[in-house]
Amino acid sequence: MGADTQRANTPRDWRPAARVRGMATSIFTEMTDLARRTGAVNLGQGVPELASPPALLEGVSRAVLAGENQYPPARGVPALREAVAEHQLRQYGLTYDPEREVLVTTGATEALAAAVLGLCDPGDEIIAFDPCYDAYAADARLAGAQLVAVPLAAGSEGFELDPDALRAAVTPRSRVLLLNTPHNPTGKVFRPDELAVIAEVCQRHGLTVVTDEVYEHLVYDGARHHTIAALPGMRERTLVISSAGKTFNVTGWKVGWLCGPTELVGAAASAKQFLTYVSGAPYQAALASSLDSVSEWAERLRSELVRSRDLLTEGLRSAGLRPYRADAGYFVQADVRPWGHADGVRFCRELPERAGVVAIPTAAFYQGAEAPGWLVRFSFCKRGESVRDAVDRLVRSA
Ligand SMILES: *Cc1c(COP(=O)(O)O)cnc(C)c1O
Repeated sequence: MGADTQRANTPRDWRPAARVRGMATSIFTEMTDLARRTGAVNLGQGVPELASPPALLEGVSRAVLAGENQYPPARGVPALREAVAEHQLRQYGLTYDPEREVLVTTGATEALAAAVLGLCDPGDEIIAFDPCYDAYAADARLAGAQLVAVPLAAGSEGFELDPDALRAAVTPRSRVLLLNTPHNPTGKVFRPDELAVIAEVCQRHGLTVVTDEVYEHLVYDGARHHTIAALPGMRERTLVISSAGKTFNVTGWKVGWLCGPTELVGAAASAKQFLTYVSGAPYQAALASSLDSVSEWAERLRSELVRSRDLLTEGLRSAGLRPYRADAGYFVQADVRPWGHADGVRFCRELPERAGVVAIPTAAFYQGAEAPGWLVRFSFCKRGESVRDAVDRLVRSA
């Protein structure tokens, strides 16, 4: 009956536009459904189960009741743009003019889309590192551009930039380099020497850098996040993107921002105004007063996340898998070959049945052909009891 109804309701001459064909179902949807159906502990999606600063939450209700419920200015609530500029100065020594060099967006997701749509013409190439966040290839496609994936080398110590592979990827069509540090899904923090190589390539070939830094505050064990925008000659060719979602555990608010030189921000703002125009005035107002105390907040959040990361890493090892070190972010990578699996997709499809846990095959984050199929991503941005439960289940079924 379902099929008949569907046929009757769908005109025969209808088809989705080429730019969205094949985007409808992802492994994330499949795994989230699987978790729901089987009651498995969901360590798939990176949706935090952690608390947010109470003052920030109260700030939203105060802003709503105070009447901040209409369209804010197109570039974002002025107080938030000022707070973002102060944040970049305090953290990285970078000066941005809140009027012309900061743009508030509907999450980092919209910042990425607006940057790519504002900077790339059809036929242009965008260089990104494989594995990468799934929005990058989608944004390239929406712009008619081509994502060129340069694989990070997966060694036993973690993921490394391959400078020769990067240089070989540049062509006359290369327009943008899309960087993500701290990196999802690997938990890698790009080192200053790696950023210097990337900066040198971008300057030599006239590439604009878009750098996704949503995990900037979630770097562990005394490691430090460095932004490529702070390297000599890079501020003028770089858009830095961040978001409140990951820093304050408010992924549902969808408030992000980008900073850069006037012309680049202007190009992104031109696209942004017709994507969403603006968003979430009361959320922006509340964030404006919380961003200056982010350091104290982030320190507490990091120690909570480190506990969960260590619990998960140890648990994966006890279960006989081979976890990688995660220096940042929400995720641990594990080599699942010790369980007799070379195929992470099959491993993840069977895991809910076998162990009552859901994870995501890392191959889903590869755009190029060189995916190490035996890697699986587990997320630890969960309450301690969820991680402990997942670990117990994995160890029991090893
Ligand atoms: C979560 C995430 C985003 C999206 O951020 P929002 O602010 O929720 O839109 C972008 N990039 C990376 C790498 C992420 O992990």
